[in-house]
Amino acid sequence: MYNSILVPIDISEDSLTHMVIPFVQAHTALNTAKVHFLTVIPSLPYYSSLGLAYSVEMPKMKEFQHAALAKLDEIVKQFKIPADKIQTHAVTGSPKDQILKLADTIGADLIIIASHKPDISTYLLGSNAAAVVRHAKCPVLVVR
Ligand code: ADP
Repeated sequence: MYNSILVPIDISEDSLTHMVIPFVQAHTALNTAKVHFLTVIPSLPYYSSLGLAYSVEMPKMKEFQHAALAKLDEIVKQFKIPADKIQTHAVTGSPKDQILKLADTIGADLIIIASHKPDISTYLLGSNAAAVVRHAKCPVLVVR
C-alpha cells in the first residue's frame, strides 16, 4: 500500500532506532515500498562555531558524510528488509529541513520517526520530530 517510506535515523541514538524497527517492519511487510533511510550531519556553521576553518576543514565534511553513510548502512542491517527495497542517504544540514526536503524528493507517502530521545522526557516531541509532524505533506508515524 505504501510506495515510498522515509525513516530518518539519528545515528548517535541506537535506542531510537530500536524503537522504530518493529513499526518500519510492520509497514514494509508486503515488500511493495521502497524504504529510504536518511541521516543528517549538522551543517558547517556548527563546526565553524567550534573554531574550525571552513577552507581547511571543508574536505572533512566529505569524510564525515562517508563515515555517516557507512554507519547508517550498518544500522539498516538490523531492519529485515530486502536490500533492493532500501536506499540510504547521508546529507549535511538541518535535520528537520533535510528530512522534509527528501520527503518531497522521493514523494514519501509515510514518514516514520521517533518522538524524542528517551532521556529527554520533558519534551513530548523533539524539535526535529515536531517540525516534521507540522510541515510534512504526508502521514507521519511518531513512535513513542
Ligand atoms: P531529540 O531532540 O530528543 O533528539 P529529535 O526531534 O531531534 O528529538 O529526534 C526525533 C527523531 O528525529 C529521531 O528519532 C530521528 O528520526 C529524527 N532525527 C533527529 N536528528 C536526526 C538526524 N541528525 N538525522 C536524521 N534524523 C534525525
